Amino acid sequence: MLETWQTALRHIETQVSSQNHKQWFETLEFEGITRAGAVSTIHFYVVDDFVKAWTEDNYVEVIVHALEHVQPGDWKVKVQVRGQEQSPGLVALDTPSRAAARESRPSLVQESLFTPRVDWKELAFNAGMNPRYTFDEFVVGSSNQFVHAACQAVAANPARTYNPLFIYGGVGLGKTHLLQAVGCEILRRDPTQRVLYLSSEDFMNQLITALRQKDMNGFRQQFRNNCDILLIDDIQFIGGKDSTQEEFFHTFNSLHQLGKQIVITSDRLPRDLPGIEDRLASRFGWGLTADIQAPTVETRVAILEKKAEADGVPLTKEVAMIIASAVRSNVRELEGVLVRLGAQASLTRTPLTVEFAREMLRRMNLDDARALTVDSIIKLVCQHFDVKPADLKSTKRSRDISIPRQIAMYLARRCTDESFPEIGKKFGGKDHTTVMAACKRMEGELSVGGDIAHAIQSLRSQLE
Ligand code: ADP
Ligand code: MG
Repeated sequence: MLETWQTALRHIETQVSSQNHKQWFETLEFEGITRAGAVSTIHFYVVDDFVKAWTEDNYVEVIVHALEHVQPGDWKVKVQVRGQEQSPGLVALDTPSRAAARESRPSLVQESLFTPRVDWKELAFNAGMNPRYTFDEFVVGSSNQFVHAACQAVAANPARTYNPLFIYGGVGLGKTHLLQAVGCEILRRDPTQRVLYLSSEDFMNQLITALRQKDMNGFRQQFRNNCDILLIDDIQFIGGKDSTQEEFFHTFNSLHQLGKQIVITSDRLPRDLPGIEDRLASRFGWGLTADIQAPTVETRVAILEKKAEADGVPLTKEVAMIIASAVRSNVRELEGVLVRLGAQASLTRTPLTVEFAREMLRRMNLDDARALTVDSIIKLVCQHFDVKPADLKSTKRSRDISIPRQIAMYLARRCTDESFPEIGKKFGGKDHTTVMAACKRMEGELSVGGDIAHAIQSLRSQLE
């Protein structure tokens, strides 16, 4: 009989994730198989009501399916909580699997949230997250590929890969989305994980309340004993707040020592965080630090298309392209523009045409101001290198001028529709061969990599 179950278990192993298998199926305590007529019933013991309800709600089908595979016929599954046995005579032995089950027993938090059907979305919501911020909803492009992969690795194996994972990047680029996607994915895979999501300001406010109510024990307990995954958003806000940092330092250390996963977001690198103690900044660098950059134009179009589909906005490729060219560096703003365009079009019953989009963007002051011209490229490059536009247009040949000039020429050629002679004209009347030579040289720089290549890439991502 046990053999039937063990064979079924091996079958289940091929059907579910290994984590799931360990967490749920291997900890089911097999008691026996009974037969009544044509129906066979398999009996299990579990450690508590939560595991019983969870198994009944989610895994009966998987178990029956596996058993049918091993031994065709009608199967039923009966799950009882050890200690609440209905049939006396079965001896309760403390088997290793039971001990393991007790170890991985769902948390107090989960128990109090417990409803017969525990839904990860509800758990995510109760943990303060937005269940829509998932990996599925996140568009991956070259600007966020690496950080996305790191987040997925952490979600698949909490505390086993990068700990902490430190994500940094500008406003509206998807840090909060990715951070919560980690939390959502962890809960989806394993609803018993205790995920705590909060901004560093929330952390500080809770600390202040705890201090006021003289309940520091409760505060510490919440983090150190009732949390498996700590997700901290916008850590930059604890800069300069010494007692918050002190407490966070200890929280960080305890969790890290206990092998709990920590993920942190920030608007800049740990070492560039003002007013953050070195010892804390260095802790942040213990695991992996990954940056998220402004999305390229292709990614912006893909994000628009995804959002449009989700919201039922009829968006053509041309219109997506126009919006993506007008809003360059902030995904939140990109979404906002799409929502406004969609709402305007539907309110006025106007189709979302190219003309309509252009007109709306003009009214939002998002058109010409940001349109790419040779002059706007020159301006950007000058800002980057701290030189004057007049210098780029001059005939000066010193390296500090000639390098920015060649970069600007290359970008002008790459990012606008202007021809070599036209670009030459806008650089103080230079010959088209000068522009061609500059482009060739910059392509060479890009192919070998290095400081110049890096500057070009960073400027280019700001332009697209
Ligand atoms: P941040 O925390 O970096 O300021 P958010 O995570 O709040 O940015 O992102 C702003 C908005 O843009 C959110 O609605 C988010 O869903 C969306 N967003 C950002 N990046 C992406 C992406 N790559 N794919 C889909 N949506 C994105
Ligand atoms: Mg954010």
